[in-house]
Amino acid sequence: MSDCLFCRIRDGQVPATMVHQDEHCIAFRDIHPQAPTHILVVPRKHIATLNDATEEDALLLGHVLLTAKKIARDEGHGDPGWRAIANVNRDAGQTVFHLHVHVLGGRRLGPLG
Ligand code: AMP
Ligand code: ZN
Repeated sequence: MSDCLFCRIRDGQVPATMVHQDEHCIAFRDIHPQAPTHILVVPRKHIATLNDATEEDALLLGHVLLTAKKIARDEGHGDPGWRAIANVNRDAGQTVFHLHVHVLGGRRLGPLG
C-alpha cells in the first residue's frame, strides 16, 4: 500500500469528496477549506513536487491547470475570480508530497506571501 496520502485517495483507500475524475487527474474538496471553495486537483501520476516535474509532464500539467479552470467555472468563480496555487517544499508550506493545485474561490482572496 502506498504511503502517499493522495495516491491512497486516488486508489480509493482513503475517502474524499471527489468533484472530478478523468484518465489523468482527480479533484476533491480540501479537508480544511481556506475559502468557500477549496478543491485540490491532483494528477494520477505520483510526482512529489513541481520541482520533480519534467518536460515529459508538460501535457499533464496543462491538463491539471485546465481542469482547475473548469472546476472554478463550474463552482461559479470564473467571472468573480479565483486562485490556483501549487506549494513547493518547506518555504511554501507544502505538507503533502504529491503535486497538487489548490483551487480557491468564493471570497475576496488576500495578497500572496
Ligand atoms: P499543501 O500544504 O499544499 O501540501 O496542501 C495539502 C492540502 O491537503 C492541505 O490544504 C490539507 O488541508 C489537505 N488535506 C490533507 N489531508 C487531506 C484529506 N484526507 N482529504 C482532503 N484534503 C486533505
Ligand atoms: Zn502520491
